[in-house]
Amino acid sequence: MASDRPKIIASLDDNTVAVVGDAIIAETISTAAKRIRERKKFILILISLGGKMKSLKLKEKWQSLGEELNFSCLICKTKAYIKENNEDKSREIICPRCGWLKITYHLWEASTSKNELGFKSFSDQELLLLSSDLRRRQENTNKKDLNTIKLDTQSLKIIGQNAINNEPNFSHRLFILLEAIEKLQSFLGEEVVIEDEWIENYLLAMAYLKDDKELEYCLNSLRELGYIRYPNTWTSKYKHYPPFRITSQGYGFLEKFRNKKDSLKSEDVFVAIELKEEFDHIYSAIKQAIEKAGYNPRRADKEHYTDYIMDWIKAKIKESRFLVAEITTGNLGVYFEIGYALGLGIPVIPILKKEKDEENPFEKVHFDLKQFNIIVYEAPEDLEEKLCNRIAALFGILKKQKEIMD
Ligand SMILES: [Zn+2]
Repeated sequence: MASDRPKIIASLDDNTVAVVGDAIIAETISTAAKRIRERKKFILILISLGGKMKSLKLKEKWQSLGEELNFSCLICKTKAYIKENNEDKSREIICPRCGWLKITYHLWEASTSKNELGFKSFSDQELLLLSSDLRRRQENTNKKDLNTIKLDTQSLKIIGQNAINNEPNFSHRLFILLEAIEKLQSFLGEEVVIEDEWIENYLLAMAYLKDDKELEYCLNSLRELGYIRYPNTWTSKYKHYPPFRITSQGYGFLEKFRNKKDSLKSEDVFVAIELKEEFDHIYSAIKQAIEKAGYNPRRADKEHYTDYIMDWIKAKIKESRFLVAEITTGNLGVYFEIGYALGLGIPVIPILKKEKDEENPFEKVHFDLKQFNIIVYEAPEDLEEKLCNRIAALFGILKKQKEIMD
């Protein structure tokens, strides 16, 4: 479809071009590739143009109901709309900050008293984190339309705990604020105006901010960092926010942070190891250790040895949270994979075998070891334990989180 094609190809300066389009559209990628060949430097901006502006839809939805905001939201205390379902007595809440929620009668009842199962079991600070978490669950989906979140006492407990455990730090908040601003645009470099409380609350919720003062502070921080730019003169349309634009530096920051975030989220671990039978039992021990810590081991197998093997390996390393590298034999492929991972900023755990009568196993190693903390093992059994402990210490044990979503 023509409308799905990359929307804009802009020159940001003499050396930099930007391509905007849906990430899954192949044409966006090929257009970008062409531009890369022509220019020295580029920024590829992939946004799903159809997936934005949900806050405006929320506002429309609320307006279509034709009701006054007459209810104080149970979670964030913002003026919100509430409707009772006659059949099952559940409640529907449309909140400018939390979004569109459906609350079971049981949870509603629990929340009107000081019940352990309801919203009052959380502190005000925790409720703000919960509000943001719920809104982000609604915004960060591939669905173009609004979707509601159904909450009962059980799911509230799980989502609430998850929200509290994942409170973002300041630099992460700046990134997600800029990302939320990006989603308000319908084209690259469009002026962003915080025109009403719906847009304001959308930004507050997305970036885990408490109030307009925090939002103003973060916007000023983004400006000081050069990621957004205010016009020289403006007439303020809504409160104290001047309209602004994301700068090319701002788009660059988003791109860099997103790449980093993808590998931080990954549960895959690349194993760089020589493909010889004598290493099969070593690989088994590595695999056990990685799986015990909750991650998925990935290794180039013989069936991957086609013309595209290097592409396959590079793609897998890129997607990995970290790399485990068996360096005992000094295999060139393994060394390449270590170098490639380090170049991408992906951590490497090297492992090295010590033979029984060997005095210094490090003599076999070809590179400067000072930056590495190599695991030295003698047998698969001690390797498995040492590696699992190292992974747990560096990256943590992964527990799968159940998603609750309508
Ligand atoms: Zn709310």
